[in-house]
Order: sequence, then structure tokens, then C-alpha cells
Amino acid sequence: MPDDVLDAHRRGVEKALAEGWRVLERGGKALDAVQAAIISMENDETFDAGRGSFLTRDGRVQLDALMMDGATMRAGGVGCVERIRNPIAAARLVLDESPHVYFVGEGAERFAQEHGMELCRNEELVIEREIKRLREAQEKEAAGHPDLTFAGPQSSHDTVGAVALDANGNIAAGTSTGGTLNKDPGRVGDSSLIGCGCYADNESAAASCTGWGEPIMKLVLAKWAADRVREGMAPDAAVKEAIAYLERRLKGHGGMILLDSRGRFGIAHNTPRMAWAYKSTQGERNGIKC
Ligand code: ASP
Repeated sequence: MPDDVLDAHRRGVEKALAEGWRVLERGGKALDAVQAAIISMENDETFDAGRGSFLTRDGRVQLDALMMDGATMRAGGVGCVERIRNPIAAARLVLDESPHVYFVGEGAERFAQEHGMELCRNEELVIEREIKRLREAQEKEAAGHPDLTFAGPQSSHDTVGAVALDANGNIAAGTSTGGTLNKDPGRVGDSSLIGCGCYADNESAAASCTGWGEPIMKLVLAKWAADRVREGMAPDAAVKEAIAYLERRLKGHGGMILLDSRGRFGIAHNTPRMAWAYKSTQGERNGIKC
């Protein structure tokens, strides 16, 4: 996260926090709070989610998202959607309305449309900043410079995620992304895969990840961290262990937020920065490093 975008990231997570908190404050469900927070960040062009996302190699926006309910373990995911402004809302429709868990591409778009969602054109999700960023990445690639996405923690990851605990003691998690810059069309990362970039079970924990998706997927990292909590580890320790495991085992880089149904939570990242914010009845904090 370069210096010139720090304020926008901080403002973005603060606004998302307020949206999520509004739901919880009036006794709403954790799932609804997660959705409200993520929609706020999908609508904010600062992040790699919704409009303003990184572009695929061929200049399109292709989005992935997942939501999971810790009380029922119902889950809904969409992958590679190109005509949905708020993929987290489509994921929620899958969670609520379908016996299936995961839809991709045109089938996902059709499902969302059949359940009342208006589709957009892909061009409406593409912004000038990302056209320029893609051009620069491709120029570097053509000049033989290494692809930073796979090279180290200096690469940019802007996936958004949220976890929440409601007044009924239920937890939920959600993650939404445009994936990685210059990705091959059809590539799906960790974000929308259950247990990889997102997971929730009242009996363990709710987790959401960001970072280089391929190593996170191989380690099924969100579930790995939740399992540590189930075994008795505090979320604060489990989240640090998970990021250390990602680095040690696969030289991966990323970050995670983790929350259990007792309200204990942890935040960790091995990238130089990661914007985060939390609020409880005890108080509120945010930062770009932890
Ligand atoms: N984890 C996402 C992916 O690999 C990227 C990100 O976190 O920004 O698709």
C-alpha cells in the first residue's frame, strides 16, 4: 500500500466499520453486518473489490466473493463474475436462496438476476487508474521484469473482508475481491473459496484473508486458523500463527482477521501494511499496520 493511498484506505475501513456497526447496534445479524461493511468497500474505488478492481490480462474486471454464516454454516460464493456491482450481495443470495454453495461466471450472473439483482456492463466496473496500472504491469512484464504479484510482500493486495459477532452470539465472515493484477481470465484466488480466504463456524471462528491467493489456498488458511481456535488457542495467537505458517511453509504473504463467538479477535499480516478497523461495545480502533 503506497503512502499516497493510506488515507483513502483508512477512511474506507472506517466507513465500512460504521456501516457494519449500524446493523449490529439495532440487533441485526452478524451476516447482515458483514454484508453492509463489504458493500461499503466494494462501492469504494480505493479497494480491489467491485468497481475499481484490478484488471485481468485482457482488461476486464472479474470478481470473486464468499459469505459464510457461523451459526448454520450456510455459505454462498460467486467466482469470475463480470456484470455484478456487488458480488458480496450475490454471494448472500446464493447463501440464502440456493441449495448449492458456489456459482461461477455466467451461471452466477444468471442466478443473481433471477433473484432480482440488476446486472451491469463490465465496462462500468473498469476505472482509468486500473487501465493505467495494467498497462504498466504489462510493460514491465514485456521488459522482462519479474511479476511482483508472485515476488514478494511489496506487491499490492486490496481485497476486502469483514467478520462480525452479533447480540445472539453468532459469527459470520465475508470476503470480496477483484483478484490479482494482470491475472489470467478465469483464475480464481483464495478469497471466495471456503476455508481458504473466508470461513465461519460458531464452534471455532470467523476469518477473512487478503494476500497472494495461491499459497493461502494451498494451506486452506482461514480454516487452519479457525481449527487452532477450536483446539483452544486464542484468536490473537492463532492469527499470528497462521501468517507465520503462510510465510514459513510457502513464502506466502498476506493478512487475516479472526474473531470467535466469545468476541475475542486477532489481526495479523506479514505485508508491510494492511488497513483494519474494529469496534466493540468497549471501543473502536483502526490502523494501517498492526
Ligand atoms: N487474495 C486475493 C487473490 O489472490 C488478492 C488480494 O488479497 O488482494 O485473489
